Amino acid sequence: MGYHRRSVERIGHWIGGKLVPGESGRVGPVFDPAAGRQTHEVDFASVQEVDRAVEAAGEAFPGWRATSLSRRAEVLFRIRELVDERRSEIARLITEQHGKVLSDAMGEVARGLENIEFATAVPHLLKGGHTEQASTGVDVYSVRQPLGVVAGITPFNFPAMVPMWMFANAIACGNSFILKPSEKDPGVSMLVAELLKDAGVPDGVFNVVQGDKVVVDRILEHPDVKAVSFVGSTPIARYIYATGTSYGKRVQALGGAKNHMVVLPDADIDMAADAAVSAAYGSAGERCMAISVVVAVGAVGDTLVEAIRERLPLVKIGNGLEPGSEMGPLVTREHRDRVAGYLDSAASQGATIVTDGREHGLFRDSDGFFLGVSLIDHVTPDMDCYRDEIFGPVLSVVRADGYAEAVGLVNDNPYGNGSAIFTRDGGAVRRFQLDVETGMVGVNVPIPVPVGYYSFGGWKDSLFGDTHMYGPDGIQFYTKQKVITARWPDPGSSAIDLGFPRTR
Ligand code: NAD
Repeated sequence: MGYHRRSVERIGHWIGGKLVPGESGRVGPVFDPAAGRQTHEVDFASVQEVDRAVEAAGEAFPGWRATSLSRRAEVLFRIRELVDERRSEIARLITEQHGKVLSDAMGEVARGLENIEFATAVPHLLKGGHTEQASTGVDVYSVRQPLGVVAGITPFNFPAMVPMWMFANAIACGNSFILKPSEKDPGVSMLVAELLKDAGVPDGVFNVVQGDKVVVDRILEHPDVKAVSFVGSTPIARYIYATGTSYGKRVQALGGAKNHMVVLPDADIDMAADAAVSAAYGSAGERCMAISVVVAVGAVGDTLVEAIRERLPLVKIGNGLEPGSEMGPLVTREHRDRVAGYLDSAASQGATIVTDGREHGLFRDSDGFFLGVSLIDHVTPDMDCYRDEIFGPVLSVVRADGYAEAVGLVNDNPYGNGSAIFTRDGGAVRRFQLDVETGMVGVNVPIPVPVGYYSFGGWKDSLFGDTHMYGPDGIQFYTKQKVITARWPDPGSSAIDLGFPRTR
């Protein structure tokens, strides 16, 4: 029986290969969003507890980096098998604390598993270059070496997948890792810690410290933490990047999003409407790659809005554990109420509320943090519902006269995570791909999350740093390059030469 089952009320830390109950006396509540009820309490670590985790990770590092690549790959394969076997259990924990429906939580685990599978190829991924005879009798070669202790700070909306984006590559490369999960749904992190131990990850190579800003700030300041990966909202991402780099750390900080789906007049309207509904309301809109704005180009507007509107009553909202539920509650009551507030501001700023999620029975009558799906038409860029990342089941429609205006909207937006174009016109797609200022682009694909062997990342205010996350960029982020210039002299040719080294 795992820790998360033995102790249903308290979620502690995982340091040095074992569960460590918190000692700071600071805790936070964890809810079952579908019931609107607190189910757990999570410990918030103190500075001293973070230091203990960094120390454990530091002690484990030399042994782990010296562990052969084939052994590390073997451990990664075992992690892969255990996560695969325990998919349903992981998914259930996600649903219980995050609220997303079980099928969606299973999808999250599947996408996380891709990152572990990628990392099993680490012997190949860490291969360097070699140049023979760069100068007479001199060879030059490059190697990639781990950084040491690295940390990951993760958001509530993917409590299993986003940590897997980070730790799979980090530990495969020979680093030891400290995870600071979201305090809203921290339970799954402890199950993952147990699975990693069972898979043969040595004690101290993977640690979890629960908590809030106190923990994050200590991670950012700690001289023995060499790199920080962050995923969360833009204001915090900006802060993490500025603070972490000021302490000399390598930082990649992924922020929020406002993803536009441009629908050209020649698009297949039914396909576009299906895609918009799926991408706007899946996971109750709490995805950084959710579509939050549809840009209806030219004459397509009225038909498209009507096609979306008529699909909305079909979305089944309910407890994510109940079979048939397609959309669950939002993560907290405060967040749900904040999201609902955008319907008032949109109406008062002149938009048309086509469908109001507050009219759903579960919003009115349930204790859970439910909100129905909402559709807002005739949205303009000056409105709050357009400017802010709402992160809920609210889809805005902006009308644009032509392609140039549509792509201009996307490019004028401060965020640059994902975008999508729906059309049958190959020329328009090529132009969009060239013009659009987002890091990930979908062509008749509304949520273009790259597969695990590419890398994930937005542009502009959606990412601070130089590398994207996971895939090849992840390997680069978690390693340093060293170039070795070597001569194995023929004793007969050795001589003193005070000149600058030459290759010719
Ligand atoms: P958040 O920024 O509130 O929290 C993210 C992490 O930062 C958490 O671990 C949290 O404990 C910590 N944190 C919060 N406030 C802090 C502070 N003042 N100082 C230091 N640390 C702090 O984000 P969230 O609400 O958990 O997640 C939703 C956000 O994440 C959305 O904006 C979403 O777009 C974004 N997100 C982005 C991506 C991406 O890949 N770009 C992926 C998933 C989520």
